[in-house]
Amino acid sequence: MELKLADYKSDLAPDWCPGCGDYGILSALQTALYKLGIEPGRAVLVSGIGCSAKTVHYAATYGVHTLHGRPLPVAQGVKLANPELTVIAMAGDGDGMGIGAGHFVGVGRRNPDLLYLIFNNEVYGMTKGQASPTLELGAQPKSLARPNIQSKVNPLMLAFAAGFTFIARGYAYDVKNLARLMQQGIEHRGLAMIDVLQPCPTYNNLHTREWFAPRVYDINAEGYDPRVPREMSDAERAERMARFTLKATEWGERIPTGVFWQAELPSFEERLGEFLPGYPETAPATRPPGGEADRA
Ligand code: SF4
Repeated sequence: MELKLADYKSDLAPDWCPGCGDYGILSALQTALYKLGIEPGRAVLVSGIGCSAKTVHYAATYGVHTLHGRPLPVAQGVKLANPELTVIAMAGDGDGMGIGAGHFVGVGRRNPDLLYLIFNNEVYGMTKGQASPTLELGAQPKSLARPNIQSKVNPLMLAFAAGFTFIARGYAYDVKNLARLMQQGIEHRGLAMIDVLQPCPTYNNLHTREWFAPRVYDINAEGYDPRVPREMSDAERAERMARFTLKATEWGERIPTGVFWQAELPSFEERLGEFLPGYPETAPATRPPGGEADRA
């Protein structure tokens, strides 16, 4: 049966605020799955808690709405149980960089073959716009009584330090390019993260659609090559790391988007196969309806 984009949309109507960046992220995700021809029954979305977490309800894939900060452990479990599935974990900036920060570092050490989306609007939108870990020092969106007194976390730099092998940044209102990044992240063999910048028009009146529009640009369109092949020399790798750092920390008048880093390393599932005889066939049978196990 030929798949249509509509096959990836659930019957539920999103109830995000008008103008929320979440709409663009949902649309890009559905487009990426459709363009890759991944059957809805072969994809699993896993979310934590927050406005972003509702995404799993609006896509007609399998979905797990888990606990605050916990999408990554659940996503890893799903992937290890059935490596044939396309697994996409997602979290807001508070969910992923605050409550779930320990899991972010832990998963980076393993390099499982999954995609992690950070919905980054710099505030805890679901609970009235408190400062999240990605809000700049001194920033005061309208939801704060005083300026933020803590420094911000840079998800790209943290992902690099943790060991993510595909590191990208997208923008929620550039749905076409965001869908392209998601396709690349899903196709990457290993752990991929996309930090998605998104306006929260209800609580963040500083970084709005109008603020982002003249600033975001595509580094790959400007010739930046993110690839770090296995055979690269130490000197070449050091040069790539320095270039990555320069781009990943650029912020203000120009805000880079695109793929910043893509390294070739064995995935966790590949390494597990060396330790567990017969893996993944020895994993629990969790094939979704319509899969090969049902047809046999
Ligand atoms: Fe979106 Fe902000 Fe509304 Fe949440 S509070 S749905 S992040 S606009």
